[in-house]
Amino acid sequence: MDEIEIPEAIRENIELPKKSRLTLSLPLIIGIIFCLGVAGLFSMFVLSPKPKSAPQTVKQPATQPRSPQQETAPQNPQTVSPPQEKTPTKPSKGDLLGHLPYQVAPQESLAPITADNRLKMRSAAASKFKQMQTDARAQGVILVPISAFRTAEAQEQLFFGVKEQRVQDATKRAEVSAPPGYSEHHTGYAIDLGDGNAPATNLETDFANTAAFSWLKENALKYSFELSFPPDNDLGVSYEPWHWRFVGDRDSLETFYKARN
Ligand SMILES: [Zn+2]
Repeated sequence: MDEIEIPEAIRENIELPKKSRLTLSLPLIIGIIFCLGVAGLFSMFVLSPKPKSAPQTVKQPATQPRSPQQETAPQNPQTVSPPQEKTPTKPSKGDLLGHLPYQVAPQESLAPITADNRLKMRSAAASKFKQMQTDARAQGVILVPISAFRTAEAQEQLFFGVKEQRVQDATKRAEVSAPPGYSEHHTGYAIDLGDGNAPATNLETDFANTAAFSWLKENALKYSFELSFPPDNDLGVSYEPWHWRFVGDRDSLETFYKARN
């Protein structure tokens, strides 16, 4: 567009001397044409930064969509392809058999959730759980904590010990249990819950049919507890209606939701 405008501007300059040619002598006309020609050339140089910058701005849109994807080398077209290969539905590269790595909570960050001090959660999660349990009880629902914080050693026994006991391969075992270092129970925010009125459903998919589960589905979010492994979850972990996690403060939210790369 800019390139077309320049010749038009030049033509206007050339047309002007043609009109004056009628009244003036030939050497003068030539002189005037020459001067106007010089002026025309000068104006071209003055205008030239605009058409020169125009092609640059044309090039920039071609590189600009690439640069946000590839921050370092926008000019190399070959570097464009890796960001396009992103697969957002799959878990991060750090997963092991569908389970993500978690830090083991420090002992001093934990508080008991049972009278015998056997089961513990992070203080914030523990206090919210106890409040939830009390409120459920007032409505006739008995929430029984089966498992909460676990050390790496406890998870080791749970994963490998039971795996050998049941003669399962690692993939099969990982569908229902996390390898040590990869359990949400390490964080102190996760809890396995049973229904005190239906103990036979403990750690079974059938727990989804209990009054306790119905109550949790309706009320758990009021206490910042959510289901970790709903049906058909992205991680490919089996549906665990009994396994809930606390996401009611910054640390727990970061633990479970911060991007992992
Ligand atoms: Zn669990």
